[in-house]
Amino acid sequence: MKRWSTRDSAKIYNLPNWGDDFFSINKKGHMCVHPSPSSKYSIDLRALVDDLIKRNIKPPILLRFMDVLQGRIAAINRAFKNAIAEYEYPASYQTFFPIKVNQQRQVVEAIAHYGKKHHMGLEVGSKPELVAAISFATGEKLPIICNGYKDNDFIEMVLYATRIGYDITIVVEKLFELEKVIALSRQSGIVPKLGIRVKLSSKGTGKWATSGGDEAKFGLKISELLAAVEILKEHDMLDTVKLLHFHIGSQITKIDKIKNALIEGTRIYVEMRKMGVGLEYMDIGGGMGVDYDGSKSSDFSSANYTIDEYANDVVYQVKNICDEAGVSCPNIISESGRATVAHYSVLVTNILNTNTQNALPEFDEILENADELSPTVRKLVDIYKSLDRHSLRVDYHDTIQLIQEAVSLFNLGYLNLHDRALAEWLCSKIFIKISGIVERLKSVPDEFQEFQLSLRQTYFANFSLFQSLPDSWAIDQLFPIVPIQRLNEKPDIMASIADITCDSDGEITSFVGENGRTDYLPIHKIEAGEDYYVGFFLIGAYQEILGDLHNLFGDTNAVHVSFNRKTNYKIDTVINGDATWESLKYVQYKGPEILKHVRDTLEKGVASRKISFEETSHFLELLDKALVSYTYLGSI
Ligand SMILES: *Cc1c(COP(=O)(O)O)cnc(C)c1O
Repeated sequence: MKRWSTRDSAKIYNLPNWGDDFFSINKKGHMCVHPSPSSKYSIDLRALVDDLIKRNIKPPILLRFMDVLQGRIAAINRAFKNAIAEYEYPASYQTFFPIKVNQQRQVVEAIAHYGKKHHMGLEVGSKPELVAAISFATGEKLPIICNGYKDNDFIEMVLYATRIGYDITIVVEKLFELEKVIALSRQSGIVPKLGIRVKLSSKGTGKWATSGGDEAKFGLKISELLAAVEILKEHDMLDTVKLLHFHIGSQITKIDKIKNALIEGTRIYVEMRKMGVGLEYMDIGGGMGVDYDGSKSSDFSSANYTIDEYANDVVYQVKNICDEAGVSCPNIISESGRATVAHYSVLVTNILNTNTQNALPEFDEILENADELSPTVRKLVDIYKSLDRHSLRVDYHDTIQLIQEAVSLFNLGYLNLHDRALAEWLCSKIFIKISGIVERLKSVPDEFQEFQLSLRQTYFANFSLFQSLPDSWAIDQLFPIVPIQRLNEKPDIMASIADITCDSDGEITSFVGENGRTDYLPIHKIEAGEDYYVGFFLIGAYQEILGDLHNLFGDTNAVHVSFNRKTNYKIDTVINGDATWESLKYVQYKGPEILKHVRDTLEKGVASRKISFEETSHFLELLDKALVSYTYLGSI
């Protein structure tokens, strides 16, 4: 048989198709991260994690690769730059990063910093997000676009921000907002920079299709748009409207949906310009998809186009329609959040396998000497010995029948516990043998496809699905999951990945495989005492902020890593995950009060001589230690 190579591993995890050349496997069989696509430099993930553990940073660890973030920003801007050159587009392109996708200060800071040369801006959708954006924009002169519901305070803050020099566009989502903006603008004498969001009848695809279309939550209907133009005209404010906005949903899987929206949106732009509205920008919202499973399909975890195709389509469609109408082209803005940040973070954690397989009793000798066994068990021994490709189906059915028979005999008192254990043991040996045969079949009958799945093991990983991969739980989104070591060895085991919450939903049973979605993760058998880690990839968008405190598992440790030519990598910063007292604080418990209460209660036991003060003191020490330590599992 051919030796297993790292190339085989790359194939079964579909790495080349979702990694966008940021990830690869090195000669040692370790996963690597590249600072830019296909760069000859790389950071060995396993070596990095080993170093972090030596620095006493414990898993689960969220790794944020700043170079990857920079690489994605560059890729999106390059795609638009090329498209603009190719179609001789006479205006510009800018990304406004929608900070709801990842509001972490260090992330937005990095975007503000790297994005400067691409004139990136920030998009906000709430008052707290506006405050966050304003904190960056002071030093960095970042432009801001405000979407979302707005109250008087929000609008007033935006107006005064405009007055004191911020470049800030307020997007009207509802007619009543327009009336508020006009009233507050008159009152303060401040001229706003306005945008108008329209509801297109074009819809996206997949999970977020209803962000577009007539029943969308936000935006003005076309009749409302005309009413808005009238109101603005009345107040002589038509020239304050600089931006037309639409957003048809996130993760749009089909390029033709994007085309339809662009055609409709640009037609609206053209008509509004003809009506004398001072539009200069067209903001096409978010929706640029990430191909999580690498299938380049219209599955909702994929996208059937690349960044380049997206940029080309946008630029081409807008230019075409504007040229036809004889209206000058707008500067194009996209609010691509997912596509900007998905790639740059990776969660790594340890598998907690306790290797119960190795602890099974040794029954092997009965295979040699089966004479004295009960007839049921003896029949199983015979099947195990004679099983081959030709007898597969019959032997499989007989085995199932025999194991049921063993349970019945046990319940009736005809089989002892030892023989029942033997029957169980033989059954799993037979199943493993069947599985080996099935794997080599050219075409696998339906019955055995299900059978293979029934052999799937559960690997426990030290993390909470609800905290770290909420979309995997909520909407069954796929994220690539790959062991970060031993990729030069064949992974023999099919597994699901369960988390450590006490929730049966905390299990991943869909994975990125060679041909799209699969029901199991190929993974290695873990040796006793081995430290074995898996990486969860492409989790930089939405997952951090949507995560919750199920079972009080808190934020994970996060480490910002950048590439360094001399030392390979540099740790920019370490952000400690929540300690137990921090998780408890969200639900109104106070660490010191817990300690005090427990101590006082225990003293009563000491007074009545039920327990010694040494015992209570040791217990309080343990409690104190638990409060200040990580919410995830330590050594087991
Ligand atoms: C959520 C949102 C985005 C981000 O969409 P992505 O698909 O992540 O790029 C952009 N604009 C608006 C208005 C949004 O609500």
